[in-house]
Amino acid sequence: MIDVVVVGAGLAGLVAARELRRRGLSVRVIEAAPAVGGRMVRTPLKLEALHPAGAQPPAWVDLGGQWVGPSHTRFLALLQAHGLRRFPSPNDGETVLCFGTHRCTFSGFFQGFPEGQPPSVPSRDWDNAMEALEHFQALVASLPEGHPHHHPDAAALDRHSFQDWIDAHTHTPFAAWYFAYFCRAVGFLGPAEPDQVSLLHVAWGQRTAPQGDHPEEELIHGGAGQLPALLAEGLGDALVLKEPVRAIHQATSSSDPAEEGGVEVITDRSSHRCRAAIVAMPPALAGAIRFTPALPADRQALQQGMTMGRCTKVLVAYRRPWWREAGLSGIGIGDRPWVELCADSTDPETGLGVLAAFVVGRRQERWSALGTEQRRAAVLGDLAAFFGPMALEPIAYVEKDWPREPFVGGAFAAWMPPGLWTRSGDALLRPHGRVFWAGTEVAERWPGFFEGAVGSGERAAADVAARLG
Ligand SMILES: Cc1cc2nc3c(=O)[nH]c(=O)nc-3n(C[C@H](O)[C@H](O)[C@H](O)COP(=O)(O)OP(=O)(O)OC[C@H]3O[C@@H](n4cnc5c(N)ncnc54)[C@H](O)[C@@H]3O)c2cc1C
Repeated sequence: MIDVVVVGAGLAGLVAARELRRRGLSVRVIEAAPAVGGRMVRTPLKLEALHPAGAQPPAWVDLGGQWVGPSHTRFLALLQAHGLRRFPSPNDGETVLCFGTHRCTFSGFFQGFPEGQPPSVPSRDWDNAMEALEHFQALVASLPEGHPHHHPDAAALDRHSFQDWIDAHTHTPFAAWYFAYFCRAVGFLGPAEPDQVSLLHVAWGQRTAPQGDHPEEELIHGGAGQLPALLAEGLGDALVLKEPVRAIHQATSSSDPAEEGGVEVITDRSSHRCRAAIVAMPPALAGAIRFTPALPADRQALQQGMTMGRCTKVLVAYRRPWWREAGLSGIGIGDRPWVELCADSTDPETGLGVLAAFVVGRRQERWSALGTEQRRAAVLGDLAAFFGPMALEPIAYVEKDWPREPFVGGAFAAWMPPGLWTRSGDALLRPHGRVFWAGTEVAERWPGFFEGAVGSGERAAADVAARLG
């Protein structure tokens, strides 16, 4: 019998497998998709026009996660252990803000919280946004870094949506939009629309994964998406691909059910007996697995209620990062019809210019229903509004519509609607017999980020090892 079956070969599952092997336990990893990585995946750019230098330089882009910050210590250690090199995420130059009919540029990195008043924002709106920000930051500071549902104020905060908070604290269009944009596009606890997500969830997200720690400070040469394959090296036959796990059974005939018969992890083609299992995927995806004995009610509610964000990531490549010639950083934000946030993701070793654009929330629902050419025109049109008409002439364009990925179901991560934290917070980490949970969604620190995935995998491995003795 294998010691541990890990279900899901995303970052969390691969890290859990690595840790278990390091502790001398035998492991099998079962992955539904044809390749490892989950939300961590890269692709080579296929250029539509010749690069001026003739031969195409090797250029990879991340369709999933890409940025890393200085306090992502576990993830940084993994990168270093596998020889992956980092470089500063390009942000020299002016940020573009489009709001309503106004467009302006200003200095100050604006992806998290604003660092200075953009010239086209009226003072009344700006002052309102800053007052509201002060309230929000005080709320964030009042919460714990670990899971928040046992905090004395948790139930009161969890009753409300983030939109309730926006309505109570803003009275100008810019301030209202800014916090809604923040909820949709910044950080990785969603993206969610503010009327869908719990106030407790949004505030705790900033507490435990703060923009103030600069989580988007660096990028990885060749893409973050090369790491999963490196982590999977050495697994050999212990890695089973293209087999979605359909059921997990535990024997029930003794007081410690798994002690007798262990755990059985079942796919359409195979069955794997083990002493314990780690399910390393978003809770909503775990909802597709049939568990016997059945999961407790709070865990079922978690799997039914914790919703994957709606996000498409689009990478657009140009012959060079031409926006820099106009003194622009390539960071654009604003209430555009489709793209509320984009950033320069140029790897200096490729000689190209690359913008990463995000279509999120309800915008993503509408965009996803368009035809191929319309979707492309929509994104390029918004990039042109930010940076100018040269945006309309890319040499490569690639999009990843994450909600259409059957074994991921959305991006960047999952969010909690009002009431779910207080109903089901305990079920995030509580094992079900000998079935343990991992994945960035269950992390207490940096949930939604690579760092959270790594931490959750390490934690699950340690818990299982302690349980198996
Ligand atoms: C567009 C996008 C941008 C992002 N940007 C960043 C960023 O810049 N920085 C950052 O830190 N993070 C970012 N993230 C988040 C980061 O990618 C994730 O937090 C992390 O990769 C999640 O890893 P995971 O192992 O927890 O989950 P996943 O990667 O979702 O892995 C779960 C695995 O389980 C598999 N699976 C599902 N169902 C089954 C089943 N029934 N049987 C077997 N296997 C199954 C899936 O195929 C998948 O491989 C981004 C994510 C996206 C999508």
